[in-house]
Amino acid sequence: MNLFTPRISKNSQTRLRMALTDADISACAKSFSDTWRTTVTDQNTGRRYVVESAPCGLRCHCDAVIVKELAHEPTV
Ligand SMILES: [Zn+2]
Repeated sequence: MNLFTPRISKNSQTRLRMALTDADISACAKSFSDTWRTTVTDQNTGRRYVVESAPCGLRCHCDAVIVKELAHEPTV
């Protein structure tokens, strides 16, 4: 399992600790210079989140931020 600690929102420095599968972490780790947005599942809680890249302050996008938590009902 891969530890993933995105900020809970764009304007927050608070981070959530998640455990992601290799597939999920790969989707978040394309390139630090690229922007990305994907859906991940926290393996500890089963909760699903939309996350996207965020600037870290050093001209790259290696940080991550939660866009929203998805509802538990299945999506189509
Ligand atoms: Zn960076």
